[in-house]
Amino acid sequence: MKMDIPSKAAEIIQELAAHGFEAYAVGGCVRDSILGRKPEDWDITTSARPEQVKAIFPRTVDTGIEHGTVTVLMDREHFEVTTYRVDGEYEDHRHPKEVTFTASLEEDLKRRDFTINAMAYNPETGLVDIFNGIEDLKNQVIRCVGDPGERFDEDALRILRAIRFSAQLGFQIDAATQRAMSERAKDLKEVSAERIRVELVKLLVSGHPEYIREACRLGITRVILPEYDRIVGVAQHTPNHIYDVEEHTLLALKNIEADPVLRLTMLFHDLGKPIVKKTDGDRDIFYKHPEVSAEICRKILRRLKFDNHTLEKVYRLVKWHGLKYLPNDISVRRALNRVGSDIFEDFIKVQRADISAKNPAVVPKKMKQLAEKEAIYRNIIRRGDCFAVRMLAVNGRDLLGAGIPQGPMLGAVLERLVERVIDEPELNDRERLLALAVEVKDDPTIFDEKEYFFEH
Ligand code: ATP
Ligand code: MG
Repeated sequence: MKMDIPSKAAEIIQELAAHGFEAYAVGGCVRDSILGRKPEDWDITTSARPEQVKAIFPRTVDTGIEHGTVTVLMDREHFEVTTYRVDGEYEDHRHPKEVTFTASLEEDLKRRDFTINAMAYNPETGLVDIFNGIEDLKNQVIRCVGDPGERFDEDALRILRAIRFSAQLGFQIDAATQRAMSERAKDLKEVSAERIRVELVKLLVSGHPEYIREACRLGITRVILPEYDRIVGVAQHTPNHIYDVEEHTLLALKNIEADPVLRLTMLFHDLGKPIVKKTDGDRDIFYKHPEVSAEICRKILRRLKFDNHTLEKVYRLVKWHGLKYLPNDISVRRALNRVGSDIFEDFIKVQRADISAKNPAVVPKKMKQLAEKEAIYRNIIRRGDCFAVRMLAVNGRDLLGAGIPQGPMLGAVLERLVERVIDEPELNDRERLLALAVEVKDDPTIFDEKEYFFEH
């Protein structure tokens, strides 16, 4: 077998060989090349010790030197070069307590998680495939290297990685491997939130995010995402739905582009439904479920240590996903005011995915309405219509000058002015707004909360 290796990676392998060391491309890049997928990065495994690697290449970074990894810089590209190693005993199903370097490629391949990830290649030797990775690739199977139980005992994260690779590649998981996964799913409790987050996001942005259902079936979500298990089998007897909450969620998840924020939003958007569900005769009602989902989503994202930027965006998209508004200028400007123009494009994508997973009988009409609203949104942005405080022809200082007192009143007046301007854009004029501000100040409803749904 011959494989196309990027020239810089081939150079590193050659250079190591010229100094008497073995070196191979290994793991994901070998797997992906054989599959005809473009590898993300080329990892190299070598018999050379880290200090020997550093002595050979002028530009290196100690990325994980204690685990034997040195990053070699070649022009603008960089490659992780890791010394053959055997992982020592694992602590708490998490990290190997220590790693031992070895002179044997076979030993190094043996410590890897799945057969399809345990192949090595260099142009000299060709493919090294001790655990029948090629066959598993051909049969589209995820299978542990060696005894699955032992491998998951060493590192429980591999349980989630199996699902992730299966979702990325569209592969089945071997039966014995599956059995060991469900028996040990509970050990994922001991794995750090950061490591779980990385694998969960990779699963979600894969070609098969709906395989999260397999994670549920094997008892994995029960440990890392119990909120998911609650939506399983929750019926929705409403004219808009023919699927239960889980099926609807999975379909919506598949029908949105592979972006972490958007996929997380769809996964979480209806988590509140089982909590708020009420049945009135033969009809189910899920009153205010988006807000409840948003609170649940915030808890999950905090627990999994997501960054604040992602958390805030997903939270807002989940919270507003069910917003009802109409295809007219006023209603769309009001929606922009509530949702925020920074995430409005994503908000439309979320609504589109949500609709796509509803009762096919209502989908065309709802899609048509959404397309109209999207067109109106684009016109509003193009014209520069005012829909937010920052876009008013007056600011806080102007209002202070007109005698509005400093404090919460000031903000409330500004908000109320925007509401008026959303209805009547021609009011957005300094003189008219200053006059209006004085009137609005005495309005007894000024501190009333903005209503959530509006259809005018
Ligand atoms: P990706 O395309 O997502 O980068 P990958 O196969 O390169 O896929 P990585 O997580 O980058 O996956 O790991 C690189 C290689 O290291 C894997 O192919 C596997 O051989 C090995 N590996 C990584 N994590 C583990 C683990 N937890 N247990 C055993 N082997 C692992
Ligand atoms: Mg990789």
